[in-house]
Amino acid sequence: MIFTLFLLFAVLFMTIRKVSGISILVSLGSFIFLSGTWILLDTKITTIAGGNYALTYFFSYLVFYLLPIPLLFFFQLILKQRNRFMMCLIWVTAGNAIIWMLMHLLNIISLQKTAISVHAIIIVFLIFFLCEFFRREGSHRRKRLLCTFFGIFLILTVGILSIAMYHADLLKPTNSSVMFAWSIMIMILCMAMDAVTMFHRLWKEQNHMKFYRQLATEDSMTGLANRNAYEFKIQSLADNPPSEISFIMFDIDQLKVINDTYGHQTGDQVISLTAGCIGEVFGKYGECYRIGGDEFCVILTSHEQIADLLRQFDGLVEKRNRIPFPLRISHGWETREYPDGSAVSVNDIIELKTASDKKLYLHKSACRIS
Ligand code: GH3
Ligand code: MG
Repeated sequence: MIFTLFLLFAVLFMTIRKVSGISILVSLGSFIFLSGTWILLDTKITTIAGGNYALTYFFSYLVFYLLPIPLLFFFQLILKQRNRFMMCLIWVTAGNAIIWMLMHLLNIISLQKTAISVHAIIIVFLIFFLCEFFRREGSHRRKRLLCTFFGIFLILTVGILSIAMYHADLLKPTNSSVMFAWSIMIMILCMAMDAVTMFHRLWKEQNHMKFYRQLATEDSMTGLANRNAYEFKIQSLADNPPSEISFIMFDIDQLKVINDTYGHQTGDQVISLTAGCIGEVFGKYGECYRIGGDEFCVILTSHEQIADLLRQFDGLVEKRNRIPFPLRISHGWETREYPDGSAVSVNDIIELKTASDKKLYLHKSACRIS
């Protein structure tokens, strides 16, 4: 029951976070809940309606007859394929329970005489389960759920063994419930082992994803966000526009000359120096990107400090420059305000970037003349 509660919380959590796999947990939880109820009723630890044994007996059979359904569902779900035979077996199990219960209620047949039908269903399930198990030999999915397969196999075998021993007068019904309870515990343990392996695999995959995401969105030379990240940003700005967007564009002056005079390595150092200064001055206020060879961009959501920050930036570049060449980084910026709820398209953002670019080239030409 505690485990069912735990699964219920897990289902609630998964529903809130919209995680897939809820049906697997629901079918497993139902199986464990029905098993616990059956053990309690069958061993008469719990009697219902103030000790009504006839009713307790009836419900213990009802639960026992319904027990294979969630296990069949669970098996079908972990196989990740809709299997016609399994669906038939589920319907047969449900129909079998309803027919015998009705006939018992109408005093046509005693429930004890009908238990053999559930035994037959369990045997058919075990045979089918073993066939599936060997058919999937070598497949990844089977290997991943090896412990779970073992747990289901164990519970079915224990079920059949206890039925056989009961018919051979070797086992009391109470002891069969105890055997079943132990096999459920082992099954849960097996599943927990698979769950740990699965979480470990997911955790590793998530780390790989993080690494590849970084590889896809970070410029390896400067550590700034790259062109891909910039394109994503533009799309996200259009999807959720803030009330103000400011673009600052940067371009290194005469990098070709620096490359030709001092070599490409020095050119690379100049690019890294520029990126470092941009990150240091603007990193706190906005997002910084290297969007081309010597082209950089900062996107902010306010413009008040831009002029001041650009002065700081120019000073820092001058202070850090080690090449015997007056290093200059041209820049230009533009800002737009978007009233709450106004629609902003990607083209509007590109237009803003173009306007900042124009300012940059005006700055570049002005510096060239001076
Ligand atoms: P301008 O003042 O007009 O900006 O002149 P520029 O020489 O900087 O020319 P422009 O910005 O049009 O071209 C950028 C040059 O930067 C072209 C290429 O030779 C150089 N460049 C681009 N990427 C790299 C890089 O990763 N490393 C180095 N060393 N040079 C690069
Ligand atoms: Mg340039």
